[in-house]
Amino acid sequence: MDDYYKILGIDRSSSTDVIKKSSQRLLLKHHPDKSTIDNSSDFIKIQEARATLLDVDKREVYDRQLKEQELEVSKPIYSKVEVNELEFDQETNEYFMECRCGGLYIVDVKETTNATVADIIFSPCTNCTFHLEITLTKK
Ligand SMILES: [Zn+2]
Repeated sequence: MDDYYKILGIDRSSSTDVIKKSSQRLLLKHHPDKSTIDNSSDFIKIQEARATLLDVDKREVYDRQLKEQELEVSKPIYSKVEVNELEFDQETNEYFMECRCGGLYIVDVKETTNATVADIIFSPCTNCTFHLEITLTKK
């Protein structure tokens, strides 16, 4: 999967305005009519990036896939769960799940309330290198 933000040279948190401006600039620069070298594939990628990131729904799905992809390559995942599958400790205000190594995956309740529409939290085991992938769903 391509990193559309890198292609457009912008931040992950960039506003629609920034996306519009930088993609417009790049499209002009890479336009096949304006260049002697063949960079039509760049042009197509930039168009793709622009179309995806300027569509709120598409961007949301894309952001999620990008995040998932990045974390999957960097972290071993123990399990994927929904937040309501975790146990809740009312004293500490934390969700938790036991790892097979005997350690714990702990998520502060505050982390789960920051979710916008759908978000993913990766919680490290207190004892081993595995992470728990927790999907938060909009309330
Ligand atoms: Zn563990």
